[in-house]
Amino acid sequence: MAIIQEKRTKIIDLLHTDQLGESVVVKGWVRTFRNNQFIALNDGSTLENMQAVIDFSATDEQLLKRINTGACIAVKGELVESKGKGQSVELVVSEIEILGDADAEKYPLQPKRHSLEFLREIAHLRVRTNTFSAIYRVRHIMIFAVHKFFTEKGFYNIHTPIITGSDAEGAGEMFRVTTLDAVNPPKNESGDPDFSEDFFGKETNLTVSGQLEVETACLALSDVYTFGPTFRAENSNTSRHLAEFWMIEPEMAFYDINDTMELAEEFVKYLVSYALQHCTKDLEFLNRRALDEEKNKPQIERSELSLIERLKFVANNDFEKITYTEAIEILRNSKPNKKKKFQYLIDEWGADLQSEHERFLVEKHFKKPVILYNYPKDIKAFYMRQNDDNKTVAAMDVLFPGIGEIIGGSQREERYDELMVRIDELGIPQEDLDWYLDLRRFGTAPHSGFGLGFERMIQFVTGMTNIRDVIPFPRTPDNAEF
Ligand code: ATP
Ligand code: MN
Repeated sequence: MAIIQEKRTKIIDLLHTDQLGESVVVKGWVRTFRNNQFIALNDGSTLENMQAVIDFSATDEQLLKRINTGACIAVKGELVESKGKGQSVELVVSEIEILGDADAEKYPLQPKRHSLEFLREIAHLRVRTNTFSAIYRVRHIMIFAVHKFFTEKGFYNIHTPIITGSDAEGAGEMFRVTTLDAVNPPKNESGDPDFSEDFFGKETNLTVSGQLEVETACLALSDVYTFGPTFRAENSNTSRHLAEFWMIEPEMAFYDINDTMELAEEFVKYLVSYALQHCTKDLEFLNRRALDEEKNKPQIERSELSLIERLKFVANNDFEKITYTEAIEILRNSKPNKKKKFQYLIDEWGADLQSEHERFLVEKHFKKPVILYNYPKDIKAFYMRQNDDNKTVAAMDVLFPGIGEIIGGSQREERYDELMVRIDELGIPQEDLDWYLDLRRFGTAPHSGFGLGFERMIQFVTGMTNIRDVIPFPRTPDNAEF
């Protein structure tokens, strides 16, 4: 029987096994082939390769030539204790089959370090590197941890729509969803495209946030969350923005802003601890990788803590909680502000904080994650609950080292009259929000929620500095390849 038809064992299950001496089948992709004898085989089940040692009598010249980096093979052999260092067991190969050739001349991934920029251009193949397979495994474990955390707390996962008919989500520029002819759309009397003839009979967009819709479930199921893709057509070419990203948005009935800050802190600490416990091998690899990268940076830009130290630090230390007003005082009196080193100088209460300010607070001033709360109402969304000072709203942002804002949230304005005042002040057409206002008309309740950008969390956990490297196929301005 050809080995392709035989049941294979995953490498992760063989590395710490008591199957020594047994005959096993392993299938995977060749990472390296040394001295016509040693194959490093990887099947993605773990970072580690299986060393497959070829017994010369077992094979022929023609076959050996086809064991190239990138080729897919199946090997059968006896599992023995390894004599080489770096692995516990190895496979003494008795049979080998090429399942998929990889032309050594043409295969773009060679066993050497490629730049992240180059790898982005071959995003369909980069998952075959140690770095990206580690990142994608961590990403999966984090998705699981999100659902585990909320399930254990009695939250229900709600799927909110991806195509939205509500244009008051207010979190950013939207992508239009239409089936109208782009070149020659039907026109209305004033000569504009006639969206009543569009697929949904109205204008629709891709969602920028599931919050408004998930609030409906909150006011019935109490504790809920959405975890889905969100889309923002903002033209921000930064290392922290994607046009398509995933967001986790819990919404809790009877929580005030303080309860919400507590939950946000507990949640991110849980995710970080979960990664430390369940992604050990991959994090050790990413830690070494980050240390290597650091060596190329000037001394002052190097971080004081390694990746794993940073994760432990966040998991084990309390976040700093300060009001926006206190933050402005600190920033106003800070060295970079006085020496005009900030690109945006802080001189007045009411200024919107830029990422340089957020990072100063986190990385230089407090040296730990910071939760800022009670922001000026003018720089925040209409649905945030107004405080008694009439100037601020019960909003909060969680700021992380190296990342800046990782979570944004608030207590929601549950009072109908107060909410209407803000809707009027901001000139939002009431008809668009009528269903949302029903939540305040019928059985309204204090409630709060926040949004965690999943990719920013993965950036933090993996130590990757560019958000394009923590999602399989990044969408950014001018780039929707694959
Ligand atoms: P920023 O100020 O960093 O652009 P925001 O204030 O617009 O973010 P929110 O609307 O509060 O973001 O969204 C909640 C969370 O979603 C943010 O805290 C962040 O983690 C994440 N996020 C927002 N925009 C993006 C984006 N374009 N790409 C990836 N993640 C994002
Ligand atoms: Mn925000």
